[in-house]
Amino acid sequence: MAIRKIRELGEEVLTKRCKEVPKMTLRTKILIGDMLDTMYDAGGVGLAAPQVGILKRIVTIDIGDDTGALILVNPEILETSGEQTGDEGCLSVPGKAGAVTRPNYVKVKAFNEKMEEIVVEGEELLARAICHEVDHLEGRMYVDLVEGGLHDVEMEEE
Ligand code: ZN
Repeated sequence: MAIRKIRELGEEVLTKRCKEVPKMTLRTKILIGDMLDTMYDAGGVGLAAPQVGILKRIVTIDIGDDTGALILVNPEILETSGEQTGDEGCLSVPGKAGAVTRPNYVKVKAFNEKMEEIVVEGEELLARAICHEVDHLEGRMYVDLVEGGLHDVEMEEE
């Protein structure tokens, strides 16, 4: 496993629609392991494959609660409800955050790293993270959804 370079806002790879993963391969397993390493190393709660330059429909999320690491391959949002507005950041936009309105509840269908179908329900931060990461797979960045502009944040060193 390895830490990969995180692509930043302005790079074309972040604007592309990602391709479905047809089956799990060793190469894709290695990618998922590297995405987890890269996400934890950078202190993020989520990472999408295009953020490490790979146009595949894979996201990793860990909001730091009992759920642990979520691996969502070919995620598809089935249901959303409610609304929340709060600060959001992105590993591809270091040192910045901005207010984004998202659903407060999200139900998503995906495959795990064994290509078993899973359904995940999330509220609050988890719902926000799922929406943010699924947007990356469509080439959408949160900066386009920000209300009131971006502001600087202190990077937390752990
Ligand atoms: Zn992001």
